[in-house]
Amino acid sequence: MPLAVRGPLAGQPPFDVVCFGENSLDFAATGDLGSLLSTSKQPLSGFSMQPGGQAATAAVGAARLGCRTRYVGVFGDDDFGRRVAGAVTAAGVDLVSIERSGVPSRVAIALIDRQSGERRILEHRHRDLALALDEVPLAAICRGRVLITDATDLRASIHAARAAREAGMDVVVDVDRVEDHVDELLTLATVVIVAEEFPAALTNIASLDEALDHLHLRFRPLLTVVTRGARGSVARADGGRLETPAFAVQAVDTTGAGDAFRAGFVAAWLRLPSGGPLDTLMQYANAAGALSCQTTGAQAGLPDWAATEALVTSSGVHQSK
Ligand code: ADP
Repeated sequence: MPLAVRGPLAGQPPFDVVCFGENSLDFAATGDLGSLLSTSKQPLSGFSMQPGGQAATAAVGAARLGCRTRYVGVFGDDDFGRRVAGAVTAAGVDLVSIERSGVPSRVAIALIDRQSGERRILEHRHRDLALALDEVPLAAICRGRVLITDATDLRASIHAARAAREAGMDVVVDVDRVEDHVDELLTLATVVIVAEEFPAALTNIASLDEALDHLHLRFRPLLTVVTRGARGSVARADGGRLETPAFAVQAVDTTGAGDAFRAGFVAAWLRLPSGGPLDTLMQYANAAGALSCQTTGAQAGLPDWAATEALVTSSGVHQSK
């Protein structure tokens, strides 16, 4: 029998998806990443300023895929923050913005390799962008069927995730580094979607399959997924493990691919009848991730539902593993 996960929890709140967490203005610099440290100066083949940040990108991704989406996040009171907030609202996302006076917005420098589209990120986040727990707008967050949250402001995300679970929402969690209290967030997750390096970093188990099993059995979400770039994803549900290859695309920038993947998963989970078989959900997630890599910028290439569905239903387009 194919693996399946139950559909999202029922209810008729005003939003399908609420995203809470990071937003960013990314300085996207494309060049020859391999020789970066061995040359004192080198020309870029491309440069642009791009809206990004994990939760904000997931929100724009979910909206493009047809979900009624809200984004809740903290902005500095500068032009960078206004630019990122503008991109969120232009995508049709309902914006709940907490503005920090006198604090710079989060910025990142994305160094993108022009051959592979792989990137390295240098980030700057002012510590005053962190929220005190009584500033987390729980009433605005608990207004959807699914919460997607990252772990940038970990204590705030734990607070939001706990309230969302108590309000009957499913919680999709994105964690990218091991730090104190990360366990608390993982315990509150219905679905954990992390990048390939995280399970080994948390568990000290080198084998991906074993580390994934360990993660799944320790935190007991409905589903634990590891994304593996051009090698697709591995999902672990209670019934077993499912490997899904990536779709073959010409990747020019992989920034935000994980957020596109999360948006693709959630949109398919909400749209397909009663959740749907796991292999179908993973195909939608991988398709959204792959399509997002075809354009420079975390958000510029986020696909709509028709493009994602077209890639899923086309045949013979998987990467060789
Ligand atoms: P993150 O952005 O969190 O590091 P990944 O790089 O693992 O996440 O990418 C997330 C998903 O996006 C992958 O599981 C895959 O489906 C898709 N993806 C990423 N890079 C590529 C690529 N080069 N070709 C095709 N799909 C890709």
